[in-house]
Amino acid sequence: MVNVFERKQSIAILGGGPGGYEAALAGAQLGAEVTLVERVGVGGSAVLTDVVPSKTLIATAEAANAIGDASDLGVQIFARGDHGRPVRPEVAVNLHAVNQRLLRLARQQSEDMKSQLTRAGVRIVQGEGRLDGPNRIIVSTGTTDFDQVDADTLVISVGASPRILDSAIPDGERILTWTQLYTLESIPEHLIVVGSGVTGAEFASAYRALGAEVTLISSRDQVLPGEDEDAARVIEDVFTRNGMNVMNKSRASSIVRDGDKVVATLTDGRVVEGSHCLMAVGSIPNTAGIGLEEAGVQLADSGHIRVNRVARTNLPSIYAAGDCSGFLPLASVASMQGRTAVYHAMGDAVNPTDLRNVTSNIFTQPEIATVGWTQRQIENGEVRGEIHKLPLVQNPRAKMMGIKDGFVKLFASSGSGAVIGGVIVAPKASELILPITIAIEHRLTVDDVAQAFAVYPSLSGSITDAARALHQVP
Ligand SMILES: Cc1cc2nc3c(=O)[nH]c(=O)nc-3n(C[C@H](O)[C@H](O)[C@H](O)COP(=O)(O)OP(=O)(O)OC[C@H]3O[C@@H](n4cnc5c(N)ncnc54)[C@H](O)[C@@H]3O)c2cc1C
Repeated sequence: MVNVFERKQSIAILGGGPGGYEAALAGAQLGAEVTLVERVGVGGSAVLTDVVPSKTLIATAEAANAIGDASDLGVQIFARGDHGRPVRPEVAVNLHAVNQRLLRLARQQSEDMKSQLTRAGVRIVQGEGRLDGPNRIIVSTGTTDFDQVDADTLVISVGASPRILDSAIPDGERILTWTQLYTLESIPEHLIVVGSGVTGAEFASAYRALGAEVTLISSRDQVLPGEDEDAARVIEDVFTRNGMNVMNKSRASSIVRDGDKVVATLTDGRVVEGSHCLMAVGSIPNTAGIGLEEAGVQLADSGHIRVNRVARTNLPSIYAAGDCSGFLPLASVASMQGRTAVYHAMGDAVNPTDLRNVTSNIFTQPEIATVGWTQRQIENGEVRGEIHKLPLVQNPRAKMMGIKDGFVKLFASSGSGAVIGGVIVAPKASELILPITIAIEHRLTVDDVAQAFAVYPSLSGSITDAARALHQVP
């Protein structure tokens, strides 16, 4: 019997990126009254400035690379020059058109997501929000207008913004954060990228493929610090082979604009001059000044909101999802946390978020996909595991496709043979890693994986081959 006096549970969400969006959909699905407060656009930074634009740019970079690589497979592109002689045409990239396309895609994606929320019955309030205690969000909807949203549960999903260094203040024209790159009208003559983490490496890789001279300034021994070392080595080799100037163990002490140039001064006194500079030195959570501390929410020293594995803060009515929490800064993790928060708040079944099983990908060329325990953790003795690595040059399909770089690496638990991790460095590694993720999630052994038929010839055949090589003799 329906209880007509039963009040609907109410959820207010601050921030409409993947964390907030998924929380809103989950709440609507479970029958809550949901309000989502967003100051820029539904989809958040993920859709408007980060994931969607960067991966669309990278798709263009891949197309440019494919034209260059086609000649290895015997495809020749030429035009007839004087006296009918073949002339090798140059690949030209119209960055204005590329940027218009990716911004249009991002806007469209944001609109689609907004319609999806509206159809699901979510109320969207456009404006800048801040907490007023543990059950209220105050929204500034205009210069003098305010809205007040009261709810049983608050989900904070305000994301993060590019870190700005005092010694390298972006001007939006020559010194840029990744959110400002899409106003460029033409390929930079010489792009200096400061920071060789995932964002720096992805943009350095893409702009080099698009024809820019690129200098990558990295403070560590190797690009992509913290990632699988073999994978980082492959990427660094490819970068240098493609003509990128990779400066390891180099720290920029200042970046200044000088007319049409940017000048990067390193701590050891060396100077690098370029036409543009991309600052990719990390992000800071958007948690300052939105009433979190006043409401009693615990923050880490970094400003991230402390949450447990069901995304709950120290206050029972407040959850936090995505980049503003201390979890992995990935859109997929933000979405999972958003859903988990709402399921938990509404008493639905929840699986606490397990970061061990998160699959992540670096969209360089080739890509690096990773999941599960790492080789470093196995070698440090944190987990007992066996490692097998198969270079792709041994794979028949890779040979046919002219793939020269990359590998499949699989980790199996010593004793049980359960698959516990893997790394794939390959074109479209993001599409190849899923069988390893499924094996980890469902505790399959290397023998289970080896038993599955892989297509012959296929890149994924290297996964079953690596699994076979890890068979443990009883
Ligand atoms: C260049 C780049 C590329 C990336 N590529 C990938 C990728 O390929 N795959 C992947 O999984 N991840 C990727 N990421 C990471 C991904 O973008 C983030 O993990 C994801 O955006 C986090 O989602 P979120 O919901 O926490 O925050 P966001 O997407 O940042 O959304 C937060 C939202 O909150 C709003 N907001 C903030 N404060 C307020 C306020 N006070 N009032 C109202 N609204 C507010 C903001 O306007 C924003 O819309 C990339 C990141 C970068 C920088």
